Amino acid sequence: MPADAHGGNARQRVRTRRIGRATRRVSSAVLPLKLWQPRWFDGVALVVGSTAPDLAYVLDGSGLPVWPFSHQVLGLVGWCLPLTLVLGWLIRRAAPALAVHLPQAGPFALRDYGALGGVRHRWPLTVVSAPLGAASHLLLDQLELRVPWTEYAMHVVGAVVLLVLAIRIGRRRLIRRWHGAPPPRSRRPGLFWGVAGAVALPLIAVTPFLPGASLYHTTGARLLCAVGAGLLIASGAVTAASRRRRLVLAGSSRRSATVAPHPCSTQRGCRRRAALSVAASDLPTDSGWGSSQCTHLPQTDRYAEWLGIKEVLR
Ligand SMILES: [Zn+2]
Repeated sequence: MPADAHGGNARQRVRTRRIGRATRRVSSAVLPLKLWQPRWFDGVALVVGSTAPDLAYVLDGSGLPVWPFSHQVLGLVGWCLPLTLVLGWLIRRAAPALAVHLPQAGPFALRDYGALGGVRHRWPLTVVSAPLGAASHLLLDQLELRVPWTEYAMHVVGAVVLLVLAIRIGRRRLIRRWHGAPPPRSRRPGLFWGVAGAVALPLIAVTPFLPGASLYHTTGARLLCAVGAGLLIASGAVTAASRRRRLVLAGSSRRSATVAPHPCSTQRGCRRRAALSVAASDLPTDSGWGSSQCTHLPQTDRYAEWLGIKEVLR
C-alpha cells in the first residue's frame, strides 16, 4: 500500500516525495508579505494556505481524489481555500486559550499570539490571502521539480528564514502592535495538557499503521495534524470549562442577593407556571422560591429578569 498510497505511478511518487518537504519553507516564503504590509494580508490565512496543499497527504490511501488535486491550480480554490478557511477559523478560536498555556519562549513571544483570537479581517482579504499562500507553495514545488538541487538548499534557507522572521515578530512585539494585547484567559494547565495528550497520543500511536505510513511526508503531515488536533481540542476544553465556571460564578452572585418570597405563592392557574417551575428548580432551596410557587405577573418578570431567563418565558 505505501508504494501506491497516492494512487499514482513511480514518477508521481518521486514527485510527491520531493514536494512533500515544502511545508516549512513555504510558510517562510509568505510571511514577508505580512511583515511588508500587515493590513493587506491575513497572516493566518497566508501561513495555513501555504501548508494546505501538503495537508492532503493525511488522506493518503483513503481513495479520496485529493492528490494531485491539492497541488493543481483548480485545487487552490477547490481544496486549499475551504481547508484554510476552516482551519483559520479554528486556530483563531483556539488562539487565546492555546497561547496562555505556551511558554513565552523569550524572543519568540509566543503568548502574544493569543491576540489572533480577536482579529476579524474583512473577508476579501482572507479569501485572497489563502490561495496566495497556497500558490507560493505550488511555485516553490515547481522550482524544486525543475531544479532538483534547490530542494535541500531551499529547505535549509526556508528554515533559517522562518526562524529569523519568528524572532523578528517576537522581538518587536508585532502581533501586539498589529492586533493589540491578547484577551485575558485563565490558565488550566492540568486540563489543557491532559486533553491535548489524550487526543494527540493515540493518534500518534496509530500513525505507523495507517496506509502510506512508509512515506515520510505522509506520516509527517499526520503527526502534525495529530498534535494540532490535540492543541485545538484542548483549547476548546479549557474555553468551555472557563465559560461554565464564569456562568456558575455569575449565577451564584445573582442568587446571593436577598430574594423576598413570592407574595402570590398560593395563587393558582398562572399560565406561566410550567416555564417558571423549570427555572425555579435551579434555585437554592433557601431562596424562598419553590417550583410550586406562582408565576403571577408582574413579579414573574422581575423574577425572570433576576434569573436572566426572560427568553424562557416568552
Ligand atoms: Zn507540496
